[in-house]
Amino acid sequence: MSTPVILLVSAKHADSLLDEFGRYARDYDLRVAGSSAEAIETILAVKAEGAPIALLVHDGDLPDSHPLLAFHHWRAKVPTARRIIVAHWDRFLELGNELRPGLAKGKYDAHLLMPRGVRDEEFHAAITEMLSDWGQSVAPPVIETVRIVAPPGLPLTSEIREFTERIGMPTRVVRPDDEAGKEAIAEHEASGGTVGFPLVRVDTRGTYVPSSVREVATHFYTHIGGDGITEVVDLAIVGAGPAGLAAAVYGASEGLNTVVLEAGAVGGQAGTSSMIRNYLGFPRGISGMRLAQRARGQAIRFGVRFLIGWEVTKLETGAGTEGHHLLHTDSGTVTARSVVVSTGVAYRKLGVESIEALVGLGVTYGSAMSAARETENADVVVVGGGNSAGQAAIHLARFARSVTIMVRRTSLEETMSAYLINEIAYNPRITVQTCAEVADGGGEGRLDWLDVRDTTSGEVTRREAQALFLLLGAAPHCDWLPDSVARDDHGFVLTGRDIPAECWTDGLPPLNLATTVPGVFAAGDIRSGSMKRVASASGEGASVVPMVHSYLAP
Ligand SMILES: Cc1cc2nc3c(=O)[nH]c(=O)nc-3n(C[C@H](O)[C@H](O)[C@H](O)COP(=O)(O)OP(=O)(O)OC[C@H]3O[C@@H](n4cnc5c(N)ncnc54)[C@H](O)[C@@H]3O)c2cc1C
Repeated sequence: MSTPVILLVSAKHADSLLDEFGRYARDYDLRVAGSSAEAIETILAVKAEGAPIALLVHDGDLPDSHPLLAFHHWRAKVPTARRIIVAHWDRFLELGNELRPGLAKGKYDAHLLMPRGVRDEEFHAAITEMLSDWGQSVAPPVIETVRIVAPPGLPLTSEIREFTERIGMPTRVVRPDDEAGKEAIAEHEASGGTVGFPLVRVDTRGTYVPSSVREVATHFYTHIGGDGITEVVDLAIVGAGPAGLAAAVYGASEGLNTVVLEAGAVGGQAGTSSMIRNYLGFPRGISGMRLAQRARGQAIRFGVRFLIGWEVTKLETGAGTEGHHLLHTDSGTVTARSVVVSTGVAYRKLGVESIEALVGLGVTYGSAMSAARETENADVVVVGGGNSAGQAAIHLARFARSVTIMVRRTSLEETMSAYLINEIAYNPRITVQTCAEVADGGGEGRLDWLDVRDTTSGEVTRREAQALFLLLGAAPHCDWLPDSVARDDHGFVLTGRDIPAECWTDGLPPLNLATTVPGVFAAGDIRSGSMKRVASASGEGASVVPMVHSYLAP
């Protein structure tokens, strides 16, 4: 890949900007323009050279354009670049008052104060965050840790890539007849393996042919010691979304011998979010993957053991010696004094057979960060009216030619946060189609068209669509729980006062996050009445720990 460009635009302060961004000159090509028009010329020239643009930076005072209009025009040319205002201190407050409402609407990504001296590391932390976010979500990986060799048309390829990218392994997909593909195949044959696809090559661990994502997960993680857990642990957490991760950090830091069992990638639903903007303490937002990796690292630091790729298939309450709980998985059984159920929710299925057959072949459940890069110049449909659909549409619009958010309702107002509705309204590539549902879909080996039904008239219209993202609302992950863990009519786990009064002891309800089974607690989206947000899930994960402590106390 050619060196990515950082474009600095200023009539008066170009020298200061260039000086300040000098520390990035090794990895980025710094270009300077004096006006909005000159910036457009530079953008077109850079595109003609085939180089990507990572950042568009200006000081908020352009001689030939309103600052936000300039971003608007530049974004039309290069929608994947992050947009930043670095305001000179003479104008910082004034520009802030005038332009910040645009920040709330997603017209640009950050409003920073130009450093007033050397080593302004706060400023550079913000720039590095933007570059890292761009690098992770837009740029093709520079380093390759995982190589997947596969011919087109294998759904498992995208599932594996989604998993490896979510656990922070830069991944490249190549065809068997590419040089890199041939090289991996030869390596596999030389090691005595039988070639099949997808074939996975991991930097330091050779090649193998997995038949499921779980096999890939086990390949990465089992050696960390997962299968060595023979003792009775104090706390077993099922599910490593924000709730499970917070319970792990607080449990282990408060001295509990803690194990986390996770069926897929760490981070849960939050790990699939391109940018979480409403989590306290991250003013410029944080990608779900990064949040999950940080939390996992934090938990490991306190001694938590993660069993990744271990799906709990059954909980036997009180069935172990001394009434301990048994958690069964295909890889083994974990015995625990207490259990936190934090298995969250999974997307509902669309239920259209032709569409289900194309999952991994243009059809994706969830926002699928890695699939976004493949939507360049595609017409994309996002089905769903929640915040996750809104975020997915905004992220996809950086790549796709057009993005249509499709909902059955008459508007998004009831289901999506206002800040996302505003951002969508401002984004020229996104349209919202209300009173509509997907009735059918197909294509030659992958999705190419959709039949869309108007829910008021019943009329069906065919349209082109090369990618369909389904974010359809949630059903709880609770099949593995025994009936003794009481649930509401939709399958969400009942806790505290919501538990039927006949299960209370001495007229008192169980603790807030306790279930109907002593020693089994629930936190996060799986809990009946939960708020379905990252902050509330992690808050519950933290709050459950004192309850576990009081249960375990002799
Ligand atoms: C695309 C997207 C964007 C979002 N954006 C935001 C946002 O910007 N702000 C916000 O506040 N919220 C957002 N949310 C909602 C937020 O992510 C969830 O509320 C939060 O992740 C819930 O956390 P949780 O830990 O309860 O469950 P989850 O995140 O659902 O995690 C549950 C975990 O349990 C695992 N699991 C399930 N069953 C088993 C089993 N049997 N054995 C082992 N493991 C199992 C799953 O694999 C999963 O990793 C978003 C959600 C999505 C999907």
